[in-house]
Amino acid sequence: MDAIARSLADTGLPHPLLVSAARAAVCAGDAALARQIAEKTAGQFLRPVINATGTLLHTNLGRAQLEGGACRGAVNLELDLATGRRGLRTSSVSKLLCSLTGAEAATVVNNGAAALLLVLATLAPGQPVIVSRGELVEIGGGFRIPEVLATSGARLVEVGTTNKTRLADYAEALGGLAPETRPLLLKVHQSNYRIVGFTQSVTTAELATLGVPLVVDLGSGLLDAGTPWLRSAPPRFLAGEPAARQTLVQGAALVTFSGDKLLGGPQAGLIAGSADLVSRCSRNPLFRALRPGGLVLSELQATLVAYAERRGHEIPFWQMATTPAEEIRERAEAIAGRLGPPVSVCGSLSAVGAGSSPGMEIESAALCLPGDHRIGLIDHEPPVVARVQEGRTLLDLRSVSPGEDGAVESALKHLLSRGPT
Ligand SMILES: *Cc1c(COP(=O)(O)O)cnc(C)c1O
Repeated sequence: MDAIARSLADTGLPHPLLVSAARAAVCAGDAALARQIAEKTAGQFLRPVINATGTLLHTNLGRAQLEGGACRGAVNLELDLATGRRGLRTSSVSKLLCSLTGAEAATVVNNGAAALLLVLATLAPGQPVIVSRGELVEIGGGFRIPEVLATSGARLVEVGTTNKTRLADYAEALGGLAPETRPLLLKVHQSNYRIVGFTQSVTTAELATLGVPLVVDLGSGLLDAGTPWLRSAPPRFLAGEPAARQTLVQGAALVTFSGDKLLGGPQAGLIAGSADLVSRCSRNPLFRALRPGGLVLSELQATLVAYAERRGHEIPFWQMATTPAEEIRERAEAIAGRLGPPVSVCGSLSAVGAGSSPGMEIESAALCLPGDHRIGLIDHEPPVVARVQEGRTLLDLRSVSPGEDGAVESALKHLLSRGPT
């Protein structure tokens, strides 16, 4: 067993896992299976990959890419260095978020789903939460609004229809409630789909006139529709995307959103808005179970500082999303020029991804070659993840940082040197 395990050392797995692979293979009656089992396990280990899919926020690839601001050694997570006393781990991020969105208060949990769960479990246990039938969405990964609501202990009150909901539908539902209830209005970003045609929905500003606390689950985490952190005007793909600052101005009591979608930071869930409501959320015992660790908070702080200092180009997502298509084409042409046929350059349409701005595409350029070479390209160090379209493999360079171009080139060179597959 030990000899088989040792022969698999090149997979990079720690020895005990190689022994498990050897044992599983021997039990299955074929020692030769050990390599296959070990390689399968090694493929599940996290390591850097190159995202050449053109989907900027690719959920399978960890959504927003980070530059790395994380503190690795000891960090003053709950030590206030100004006083030498115990501090609150979310303080810096809360201050930055308030400044960036105009919110009175803000806090952070592990992801967007946790943010919504905490808000509902804090503000509406046993209480009616009124949601449009057009917004009872499934985001993916098992996140379904009716199920999150049920888990939080809140009671779902559906109003309107799939395609049309009017302000009167909400007003009527509120009118039918017993006087002692403490209802909440919930508006949910449809994120990964659009209803088109004969449709109607109610805006945040209209909902805010009903005199009941309104929570808006924004999903994507655009901080400000004016994108003051960019040197140029708001990019076209943001058209119609609701932003935290404007949603609060329009009267939402709270907004919730993800850290790793349009915000471009680490996986986190942000809650911003009324000081009273945020403070109630932070005091809920669930908050302790949902709070992020120092690695996430230091990354998030670095991302928010870049926004505050208007260094949007230093946030990889915004850098990738706003690079002119010609610049991407030039990078692709340089690589294709060195490799020669069958590699060529073609136009591509990048997507934002992660349910943000569905249907909005960003013009881009890709290296392309005939056939499906996805497996060959991930069998490289670092693995390169491409996409296939109309019988061709496309490596869209919008989701690749310029510093990774060399690795993309070497993966292609390696692929071509292995000859036709
Ligand atoms: C993505 C999304 C969520 C879930 O956020 P995670 O950070 O993935 O947990 C919740 N609501 C909406 C509207 C979303 O788009």
